[in-house]
Amino acid sequence: MIPFDNSYARLPARFYTRQPPTPVRAPALLVLNAPLAAELGLPDTLRGPEGVQILAGNLVPDGAAPLAQVYAGHQFGGFVPRLGDGRAILLGEVIDRNGQRRDIQLKGAGPTPYSRMGDGRAWLGPVLREYLVSEAMHALGIPTTRALAAVATGEDVYRQTRLPGAVLTRVAASHIRVGTFQYFAARNDTEALRLLTDHARQRHFPQAETALDFLKSVIAAQARLVAQWMGVGFIHGVMNTDNMAVSGETIDYGPCAFMDGYHPETVFSSIDAQGRYAYARQADIAVWNLAQLATALLPVLDENRENAVNLGTRALNGFPNLFRQAWLDVFRPKIGLSTDDPADAELIHRLLDLMAAERADFTNTFRALAEGEAPLKNRAAFASWQAEWQARLRRDTPGGVERMRRANPVVIPRNHQMEAAIGAAVRGDMSQFMKFLSSCIQPFASNHFSYEFTKPPAAGETVRQTFCG
Ligand code: AMP
Ligand code: MG
Ligand code: MG
Repeated sequence: MIPFDNSYARLPARFYTRQPPTPVRAPALLVLNAPLAAELGLPDTLRGPEGVQILAGNLVPDGAAPLAQVYAGHQFGGFVPRLGDGRAILLGEVIDRNGQRRDIQLKGAGPTPYSRMGDGRAWLGPVLREYLVSEAMHALGIPTTRALAAVATGEDVYRQTRLPGAVLTRVAASHIRVGTFQYFAARNDTEALRLLTDHARQRHFPQAETALDFLKSVIAAQARLVAQWMGVGFIHGVMNTDNMAVSGETIDYGPCAFMDGYHPETVFSSIDAQGRYAYARQADIAVWNLAQLATALLPVLDENRENAVNLGTRALNGFPNLFRQAWLDVFRPKIGLSTDDPADAELIHRLLDLMAAERADFTNTFRALAEGEAPLKNRAAFASWQAEWQARLRRDTPGGVERMRRANPVVIPRNHQMEAAIGAAVRGDMSQFMKFLSSCIQPFASNHFSYEFTKPPAAGETVRQTFCG
């Protein structure tokens, strides 16, 4: 028995469409996240034949209330008044061992009323990619949706070519997005906005008492989240408002990527020709998205429109400082610092500039600092930066090396390794994926086991583009 308690399904019918998953031909378990299953209080039988049927969408478990959520969203700046879960079905919610409410959702579980031209399915590549990258993010200490399981469907999916289908079971604090608020705002449904705001506020920021407190909490959570992404060289890739969860968790691992060689303008997504969602633009885009949230919330911020606009604007104006502080909190320990010095931001930026000039490997450069190596090709420039850095470290508290080892991962999910693991999985061999996954979920451990995953791509291995799947 899964102890479901489905609060979203208790919201009014216009928040979703009830929709069971569409069964698949031949479900087979590829990977199950046993520690997460235990954290959620799920029964051990999940690994058994009945569990696999549930994870494939062939069996709706007792207590589930399967539904597709409706939302709107700005996609690359253009507003779409109705998107919604086109291939994801929320089975329900459970209260985990820590008392936190968590959504259990099947992604790739068949068409819904929001599928538009899509088939409601996912292929194995993006499913494994999301599984591994979201679990790596969690291990890196970055708020994220989680992956509970991946199952093969035994059915084919067509994406230019024929590919094996799969279903991912995604776990999230909720799947409420900026776009969920936009959906009701665009319809002038203030009653629904109020219900949604209360629901999301109580669920994610119980200390927030008002809609304004809720907005401020979301703003602060996003500032921290984007700073954390920056700290590991992560590029989300599709920061559309429907892909920004108000909980502050990273969601929607489509064309995301971790950079190998550092450059602030890096973009991987095949559909982001303008570089709207480039690495260094992510904070600006977060503000833009949060402005859409503030706009949607206007009717519930204050009955008086002008007051509401003032409140929303002031809350948004807090973002730059919150982000600057969060960015320093992330980057200071990356160079071993624990105290504040007004010149720290500049010191860090000078290192990043040196790295950008030669596209030095982001992860390995920071890790090499902890190991006392000189990681840059431009030795003279590095030496002069290093002298200043060492002087700054001497003014700090002891323990800089330990701080760097805790802040700078050894292993990140590199694109070329991801592609190799997916390629093998498509040929029926999951062993490379499993090895890569074990390494990525212990990102700070340096041992011979992780060594092959620390290597940047060789000349012919570089992945320049990632796709939505
Ligand atoms: P995304 O770019 O992943 O944020 O997806 C944007 C919208 O397209 C969402 O409403 C998705 O549910 C929908 N979508 C993406 N892929 C599919 C698919 N294969 N079938 C149906 N809907 C999809
Ligand atoms: Mg999405
Ligand atoms: Mg997606």
